[in-house]
Amino acid sequence: SSSGLIVSFGEMLIDFVPTVSGVSLAEAPGFLKAPGGAPANVAVAVARLGGKAAFVGKLGDDEFGRMLAGILEENGVSADGINFDQGARTALAFVTLRADGEREFMFYRNPSADMLLRPDELNLELITSAKVFHYGSISLIVEPCRSAHLEAMKAAKEAGALLSYDPNLRLPLWPSPEEAREQIMSIWDKAEVIKVSDVELEFLTGSDKIDDESALSLWHPNLKLLLVTLGEHGCRYYTKSFKGAVDAFRVKTVDTTGAGDAFVGALLCKIVDDQSAIEDEPRLREILKFANACGALSTTKKGAIPALPTESEALALLKR
Ligand code: ADP
Repeated sequence: SSSGLIVSFGEMLIDFVPTVSGVSLAEAPGFLKAPGGAPANVAVAVARLGGKAAFVGKLGDDEFGRMLAGILEENGVSADGINFDQGARTALAFVTLRADGEREFMFYRNPSADMLLRPDELNLELITSAKVFHYGSISLIVEPCRSAHLEAMKAAKEAGALLSYDPNLRLPLWPSPEEAREQIMSIWDKAEVIKVSDVELEFLTGSDKIDDESALSLWHPNLKLLLVTLGEHGCRYYTKSFKGAVDAFRVKTVDTTGAGDAFVGALLCKIVDDQSAIEDEPRLREILKFANACGALSTTKKGAIPALPTESEALALLKR
């Protein structure tokens, strides 16, 4: 079945992840190079489920950039929207796995190639052929990629794409929390589908309550679907006419990196050809069940991209 194009805009980078937890990367006996960057993960999530995906962003013209572009292509994601910067290098993240299971990051971004994407470099033909245009926030942090982000959003919207937003807060990257909140809220009312995590909901509302009232305080008139993901507690959904919750699946979790991206990719795959499903609660609940299954499966293997499920893996979990 032919399906509409989902374009995912933003950063792609390499996470250097130590093979053991509780020590810094420098002290670890070894490390893995894991491709990451939420928008790139979403593009691969879509392609692995059989959808049509393109990634738009900038990589360094270096071994890391070529490795990342190769990973997208191997996974069936169009690389037609990728630019290579001749000067700056691909973004890198150096991860520490703390003994308590949390991750700490140090970034090579001074500036990295992704931050240097210019509006005049955008592949507008690709962007304007999107049925869904998905993006995060990291590309809002500095110019020129901020202008490129806003220009791409505008072009996609004018061409009739559904705009989908996952803030992917990553607070340590921002100059200050105030700036993060301000920039995120500056594009908030453009998106028609928004997915936030419980942590992002707390940050954006400034309240530690995760309930309908706090979620709905973020509602805006252009919004069609607001999702709050709650890890092992599943997700909550809000539309113009109804709200509810869908439980998560119980799985053997080993690494939650990229669960939100697996969830978003699955959701977008299911609505790209039929946006009316958003307004039909039983159908929306089926889609969110599928998205929860994909999120759950992505936690059962290490890494983000390697752990993204296929449609048959997701259907098998749904039947279990
Ligand atoms: P994010 O990665 O953005 O923080 P979540 O961790 O909330 O997002 O994960 C997104 C979705 O993936 C959840 O709504 C849930 O369906 C699924 N998921 C995440 N963690 C688990 C888990 N430990 N067990 C089962 N499902 C999970």
